[in-house]
Amino acid sequence: MTTPYPKYVQSVSQMRAEVPFVSALTLERTTNRPFKALLGANENGFGPSPNVIRAIETETPHIWRYGDENSYELREALANALGCSMDNLVVGEGIDGLLGNLARLLIEPGVNVVTSKGGYPTFSFHAKSLGGKLNFVAYKDNRQDLQALVEMASRTHASVLYISNPDNPMGGCFNQSEIEWLLSNLPDQCVLLLDEAYFEYIPERHQPQFQWDDPRLIRFRTFSKVHALAGLRVGYAIAEPSLISAFNKVRNHFGVNRLGQAAALAALSDKNWLNETLKRTKNAKAYLSKIAIKHGLTPLKSFTNFVTMDTHENSDFSARILKALEVRGVFIRRPFSAPQNRCIRVSVAPKPELEIFDQTLGDILSDIRP
Ligand SMILES: *Cc1c(COP(=O)(O)O)cnc(C)c1O
Repeated sequence: MTTPYPKYVQSVSQMRAEVPFVSALTLERTTNRPFKALLGANENGFGPSPNVIRAIETETPHIWRYGDENSYELREALANALGCSMDNLVVGEGIDGLLGNLARLLIEPGVNVVTSKGGYPTFSFHAKSLGGKLNFVAYKDNRQDLQALVEMASRTHASVLYISNPDNPMGGCFNQSEIEWLLSNLPDQCVLLLDEAYFEYIPERHQPQFQWDDPRLIRFRTFSKVHALAGLRVGYAIAEPSLISAFNKVRNHFGVNRLGQAAALAALSDKNWLNETLKRTKNAKAYLSKIAIKHGLTPLKSFTNFVTMDTHENSDFSARILKALEVRGVFIRRPFSAPQNRCIRVSVAPKPELEIFDQTLGDILSDIRP
């Protein structure tokens, strides 16, 4: 018998080597069929500011040099924009990268993590690879169940509670007092990971604000969504300075490259483009909601750049919708777990793509309706 090489650590030897998200690119390659409408990954099809493109072009001749390992200028600009200190900020390779770093700081075999079943999966994925114990709480009425999450965290003496707010995949949002309630009911030594990938889409007067130096809280934001830079990989975490400096123990110090830093800086300073994007997003969501209703689906209230639509059928039905749309060149996704996976999730995009979705959905639904 041959000895298997290499000798994997216990926690990963148990895992299947799968990529949680299959991208549109991969589907296109495997089916040899290009998509006509990209509405599946919550990318921002309205695109980045022209200033961002110019900043990338200006930076390009300098890419032979390593970037700034501390993202100093970007952190300075973020600190000014947010009204916090630079010491409250770490920049990383998107929220997904930062969640991986944080998992290395907080998770080892036996540590308990609490999150929602069918919530955004990246932190769980990293925690599992480090031997963390995942404890899932069901959604309640299309929302994450804060009460049950807190109870589960207490019962399991969890070190980490992760939620996304606004929520992907359902699109809803908790307000300031709801999150404050959550914070004040966390068990001792449990931190709240608040994934705010869609924060900028919350109307400004409703955006929850917390003390930047609260040791129970770490917040994550990204340039992938509202700033339309998903392909560049830039995100940041905001927390109390000692937790932020702990990231230096585990992060990939040159992971955020020169183009990403220059682009993010330019994106941050173009307020007009941001407002334009928010306006376009609002219109696109209104249009998507109309499309949903027209086809007998119920659009859920969204604080994000997508609209989740309840089919009022089972997960087989939504799976058939996804497949039939995919075959006809329309890429959408649906929530990962039951019972939310009876829904479909459609990202905003320029109007022509939404028209294709409308038309194609109409074509397929009559065939697959039970
Ligand atoms: C899109 C998304 C992310 C990924 O953000 P990146 O900065 O691109 O890694 C993280 N969390 C949630 C909830 C998301 O929807």
